[in-house]
Amino acid sequence: MIIVSSCLAGINCRYDGNNNLVPEIKELVLAGKAIPLCPEELGGLETPRTSCEIVRKGNQIFVISKEQLDCTAQFELGAQKVAEIAKTLNCKQAILKANSPSCGYGIIYDGSFTGKKIEGNGLTADKLAKQGVQIKNEINYKE
Ligand code: SF4
Repeated sequence: MIIVSSCLAGINCRYDGNNNLVPEIKELVLAGKAIPLCPEELGGLETPRTSCEIVRKGNQIFVISKEQLDCTAQFELGAQKVAEIAKTLNCKQAILKANSPSCGYGIIYDGSFTGKKIEGNGLTADKLAKQGVQIKNEINYKE
């Protein structure tokens, strides 16, 4: 079983109430090969919601909204829930939305809300990778 970001399967779970549909990824779900999960909704955040980015302060990581609300706890809870589901279903692969503070892997937005990107992982992608799940995104998942 593959975990996919729900927004890539066409589910309207994005912060702005929209999705990031990739028809072939939705097909994986419809064929029973993938399970769609949105860590931000699983962490208790509403849709639509304020957009968030990861901010580093020393060794610590926070997830802060555009309005400077600290949403770290919800992002951590969502990551924890996705990691538990991955373990329960013995998932070894995930296709996660690039750049997201939850789902991004390798590159994320830099915390300035200006569209700039830096090296780093979203909280969920990082947790999954640390438990041995191979992470791809909507651009490189066929490689
Ligand atoms: Fe998509 Fe992940 Fe953001 Fe949910 S948390 S909207 S699945 S990128």
